[in-house]
Amino acid sequence: METKWEFSAGGVVFRRDENGELEILLIRVKNRWSFPKGNIERGEPKDQAALREVKEETGVDAEIVDYLGEVDYWYSMGLTRIHKFVYYYLMKYTGGDIVPQKEEIDEAKFIPINEVKKTLSYETDQEIFNRALRSLEKLGEING
Ligand code: ATP
Repeated sequence: METKWEFSAGGVVFRRDENGELEILLIRVKNRWSFPKGNIERGEPKDQAALREVKEETGVDAEIVDYLGEVDYWYSMGLTRIHKFVYYYLMKYTGGDIVPQKEEIDEAKFIPINEVKKTLSYETDQEIFNRALRSLEKLGEING
């Protein structure tokens, strides 16, 4: 069986709602919730790919405030096994209305930070979310 590698970059985007509570941008594909991400183009820096994919998938503009690290997982497509690596950045929302990319995303939504853990579908996203929480503490955005 053939194995291929894929490399994507994505973002954990945060902002405050009208009551000052933190919320996090999630996307839904069918019934699975995760963070926006997408393929890194040839020669493209990872951070630029992450910002571009957040914008393309959700319509949201953001700025990078921290690097959260990488995760990897496997999936198969036909007879090919794919080993996928995804690099995640913590991002602060700077503007833009939510416009989900029709071809790839069923829904994009800011979710209250205390509902994110139970909403995320994948184990690797739980890991990235925990890192994002630690980073937000370090940055003074939430209390430890
Ligand atoms: P990208 O969003 O990077 O352009 P894609 O939409 O082509 O990529 P993935 O989101 O990686 O592909 O999904 C490919 C397969 O892997 C799907 O079956 C999906 O359910 C599964 N998958 C997606 N994210 C994860 C994850 N974090 N852990 C395990 N499996 C995942």
